[in-house]
Amino acid sequence: MASIVIVGAGYGGVMAGLQFEKALQPFTLVNKHSYHQFITWLHEAAGGRHQIDDYKVELSEIFRQRLSTIIKDEVVSIDRTQRKVIGKHDEYPYDYAIIGLGSAPEFFGIPGLSQYSMQLRSLETARQIRTHIEQQVKAYRDDRDQSRLRIVVGGAGLTGIEFVGELIDWLPGLCNRLGIPNHLFEVQNVEAAPAILPALSENLQHKAQSVLESKGVRIRTNTKITQVMQDAVYLESGEIVEAKTIVWTGGVRANPLLQDAGFTCDGRGRAKVNEYLQSVDDEHIFIIGDNASFISAGRPLPPTAQLATQMGVTVAQNVLAHSNQTTMKPFEPKILGTLASLGRDVGVGLVGGVQTSGAPAGLAKELTKVKYLWQLGGMRMVSRNRKPLVREY
Ligand code: NAD
Repeated sequence: MASIVIVGAGYGGVMAGLQFEKALQPFTLVNKHSYHQFITWLHEAAGGRHQIDDYKVELSEIFRQRLSTIIKDEVVSIDRTQRKVIGKHDEYPYDYAIIGLGSAPEFFGIPGLSQYSMQLRSLETARQIRTHIEQQVKAYRDDRDQSRLRIVVGGAGLTGIEFVGELIDWLPGLCNRLGIPNHLFEVQNVEAAPAILPALSENLQHKAQSVLESKGVRIRTNTKITQVMQDAVYLESGEIVEAKTIVWTGGVRANPLLQDAGFTCDGRGRAKVNEYLQSVDDEHIFIIGDNASFISAGRPLPPTAQLATQMGVTVAQNVLAHSNQTTMKPFEPKILGTLASLGRDVGVGLVGGVQTSGAPAGLAKELTKVKYLWQLGGMRMVSRNRKPLVREY
């Protein structure tokens, strides 16, 4: 039986593992943490909707058959010549490796950005952002420094917009709890392009902007960040915005390990794959999610959880087919829609080609969560995640 190593327990890696369990195929899963984190809901975690630990699930809860070996280790390289994945603690030989290590922030070489901004990329960073904002409010009570209550979010893609929507709904409760007036807070979302949410239509972009502005977010389009220093954001116009909370959501690129391992990559560091999600450089390596440069309709697919999940299913089938010398199945992406939450109860988006906004879009977004939890572990996972949702103020 072929030895299979899945690298990374993100949306794609976990789905591949579940397929192997169904096929009674043993595998090894190596991941930095003992848990799978719901990266697509991190804005909620950072923006105080629920407790941070509600946004993860232990891998031992997902993989319940004794077939799989789950290893908590951080992968540092891939030795393709010797066919082994190398972690900080051990090495993992493979006949087939599936790589789904997710994305890292893209800083575009902007001076000071990586050093002086926070990024929303993991549960740890969500906790860091949330704690930092709470600490700024507490410190404001002592020194009345207005820049402690100014939050600048760089980039108005889906990540930035969902984050500011969440923040603006969380801050009144936080201010109330800590005894300062909410109107003193200022949330600025700074976007270089002429419009927010590049993935959506003009109509939905306008709707989203007006909802967020009516809730109190200051959206600044055509405004490019050119430098960041400690507690200061420099704009192309020459303006300097003083803020003690700076969060960068201006784009992502694939985990740098792929380039280091010598894969042929695209401009965003994603490894090129063929129609079967197999690396163009190595038939024993399959690449999924944000790490795969899969060309569809002339361009690479966007890095979304929806597609990573679909890739995880196909890749598991193809690894088994390749090892059994049967026919592999081409990956057929199905983009079912794109939804952005604009706070706790409303959203905008496109579902099955139909535009939606307001409360129905917010509800549709909630339903996507239930659907994903169902895929992950049926009713057991849906009800597990429903239980501990304690709203925090
Ligand atoms: P993005 O690349 O989609 O958006 C980043 C935004 O930052 C862009 O609008 C860009 O113009 C802006 N920007 C870049 N440089 C700037 C600068 N110097 N100053 C000001 N603004 C600047 O990034 P994202 O929102 O992190 O999304 C990454 C990927 O993940 C996308 O493919 C997205 O579709 C996906 N995603 C999907 C969801 C969802 O489906 N709900 C949620 C989050 C992310």
